[in-house]
Amino acid sequence: MMTLMRHDHETDESFYKILDIRHLTGNAFSIKLPKARFAFKAGQHISLGIVGGNQSREYSIYSGENEETLEVLIKEVQNGYFTPQLRRLKIGRMLEIHGPFGKFGMEKEKAEKGKFVFIASGTGIAPFRSIIRTYPNIDYKLIHGVKTLEEAYDSHEYEKGRYVLCTSREKTGDYHGRLTGYLKTCTFAPDTQFDLCGNSEMIFDALEILKGKGFSRDQIHCEVYF
Ligand SMILES: Cc1cc2nc3c(=O)[nH]c(=O)nc-3n(C[C@H](O)[C@H](O)[C@H](O)COP(=O)(O)OP(=O)(O)OC[C@H]3O[C@@H](n4cnc5c(N)ncnc54)[C@H](O)[C@@H]3O)c2cc1C
Repeated sequence: MMTLMRHDHETDESFYKILDIRHLTGNAFSIKLPKARFAFKAGQHISLGIVGGNQSREYSIYSGENEETLEVLIKEVQNGYFTPQLRRLKIGRMLEIHGPFGKFGMEKEKAEKGKFVFIASGTGIAPFRSIIRTYPNIDYKLIHGVKTLEEAYDSHEYEKGRYVLCTSREKTGDYHGRLTGYLKTCTFAPDTQFDLCGNSEMIFDALEILKGKGFSRDQIHCEVYF
């Protein structure tokens, strides 16, 4: 979270007009903006503010590198400060974007050679969609933990057999229960790289499970949302 500071030397290079809004569930939506005017690595995040507003928040980039539109995936947090304002925005409104930020970006050479398990809770799937769209031939398994089936954001895009949906409140997923319950049942090759993204409780529990399976901390990368 940060407060937007305007400096005289700033131009509107960082302003992006909303081109489209896709409503994915009752409270999750994606915002499409013009092509990024900065280079980023799939997996990185940006800070996003509303032009005229005074706050910004971090969001993972949901689209792939070099795509014609820059997309983010957002869930409205009940009683949150920023996301209810974002949810009310209409096509045509201007957003202020800074970045890219973070060390969660995927290196090309690593993407081409590695074997990956991506572990996401909720909107934590965002950086993995960016990575998979950027590197369509990447060797991955994507484990997505949500409450209900409707939160399987754009899951039809992932190759069959690579996406595992864990639904904790319904029996509609591939696994009924929390993703950490599913993770305990899995076996992975010793040289697997793990990337974890989402809420801190999930990340903490998943880290313990992976360490318990004998994987070392340097095979595991984490991006904590809250
Ligand atoms: C590196 C990074 C990348 C992020 N990427 C995304 C993203 O791609 N999509 C996305 O939706 N959010 C993402 N977030 C979270 C985002 O920055 C905001 O925290 C979130 O949108 C809530 O903002 P708010 O002002 O509405 O809530 P606030 O008023 O700031 O916070 C209200 C409360 O909600 C909690 N909270 C925050 N996010 C959630 C959530 N998703 N579900 C439930 N409770 C939550 C906070 O812990 C806090 O207690 C990311 C955060 C980080 C640090």
